[in-house]
Amino acid sequence: MKASIAVLGLDGMPKDLLVEAMARGWMPFLNSVRGRLVWKQLDPIVPLTPPSWTSIMSGVNPGKHGIYDFYKYEVISEGIKARLYTSMDLNHPRIHEMASMSGYREVTIVNPMPGYPILPTKARVISFLHAPKPVTNISESMGDKLAREGWERSLRLLNASSCGQVIDRALEVLEFYREMVFSLRKDRGLYWFTSSIPDEIFHKCPKAFYKPDIISRLFEEIDAILRYMWNEYDTVFVVSDHGSTRYRAKINVNKVLYDNGFIVPGEVVEERETHKKQGLVKVRMPRILIPLIRGPLRVLARSFFQFLRDIAGWRGKRLALEIPRGIDYSKSKAYMPPTTTPWYYVVLRDSGSVGEVKRALSREGLIVLSPEEVFSGERISEAPGLIVLWNEAEGFMAYAGSIYEPRIIKRKTVNHGRYGILVYKPLEGLDWLERFSERSPERLPNHIVAPLLMAIMGVPISSASDSLPLLEKYGGLKPKMADYRVKWLLIKKIASAI
Ligand SMILES: [Zn+2]
Repeated sequence: MKASIAVLGLDGMPKDLLVEAMARGWMPFLNSVRGRLVWKQLDPIVPLTPPSWTSIMSGVNPGKHGIYDFYKYEVISEGIKARLYTSMDLNHPRIHEMASMSGYREVTIVNPMPGYPILPTKARVISFLHAPKPVTNISESMGDKLAREGWERSLRLLNASSCGQVIDRALEVLEFYREMVFSLRKDRGLYWFTSSIPDEIFHKCPKAFYKPDIISRLFEEIDAILRYMWNEYDTVFVVSDHGSTRYRAKINVNKVLYDNGFIVPGEVVEERETHKKQGLVKVRMPRILIPLIRGPLRVLARSFFQFLRDIAGWRGKRLALEIPRGIDYSKSKAYMPPTTTPWYYVVLRDSGSVGEVKRALSREGLIVLSPEEVFSGERISEAPGLIVLWNEAEGFMAYAGSIYEPRIIKRKTVNHGRYGILVYKPLEGLDWLERFSERSPERLPNHIVAPLLMAIMGVPISSASDSLPLLEKYGGLKPKMADYRVKWLLIKKIASAI
């Protein structure tokens, strides 16, 4: 008999926060079963949402699946162009696609990464988080209704402007997840729900990280979802793609690279909001004002910009703030591309400078690694550049600032931490899983999740999977394997023809 498995993905949830929420009585259910759960941490290497979720779902590192960031960069004559990664960029299938290819039909996934387009397999997919519009392949009207509702609630959360609004709207999102878990449930199969919470809350309302009591209602709601999953499914997995932690300063990588002679100054301007062009009005910030938006007058500068944004909003327009970076991307040897996301890559256009760039940044307390030191696989040449690991111990994060800003911007902030979580209820009767849970180390690579679930489901594991040695070493498992590559290419070909 196939088991029923529920997976709850909580973007950016660190272990210590869950433990604190239990200790403070906000998660009575989780607390009551904590001794029956396996508690591990997940190491994503690059603690960034798209590559990490893709590794979690595919069982391979970014060097094999090919998703490194939200955007793929390209240097063009006017500067730098960024385009969203889509599922067509995927070089390796994910768990729902592999399950479907091997004939296992009962899989439902809410919010895979990348979320768009949905590739033609038998897996049921609802996607409203990492997609440009709500999409689903569930033919019943229920699928459309859920995708639209999820999209609307996520958009309301995205547009929330105060902490109060963020918390209220995040609660509405979680309540909707509880409904979805209920309405999509069947007796067997895999049911996977990924949410942007708590990561999105900490990005928009960092004080919730310092004072988690203001989000205690959210933990209560997550607890209610878990209680329901526990009662209705044979097993429950809670997974996060990275953690969240506090920093006391940001290292302006571009300023460091400029001071060390790697950046050639230019007039290049970056927009803040890149994806939605309609009704967009661009305002260029004068160079002289740039230090202001990071400096002591930032609150004033930001409220002024918000004022301009509101005026534009009343007239049905959206305002984008353009910030001159002062980087000539076509002539510079190394730079960190600015995005709306956290910053983990330095683009290196002169391979002879690797050592010097590493030294310059390590003097600032950051660890810089070459793609070959971190990734492996046939897509490694597509890595955006050197990988910058932040200094969590000292509280320094990297930042792709302008060369007109200071080298170190001292300000308390909350951003991605390295380690995510893997918490699960072991299934009875699976000896290998019991052994694996007991013997494997406390920290596991994030690509362990898909193979672990597939072994439970009885679906053959990809022969490219990076975690095969771990399953064998700690679980004594010699799993069924399959090479999915040929079928996968075919599915992508069909998708591109549609
Ligand atoms: Zn994330």
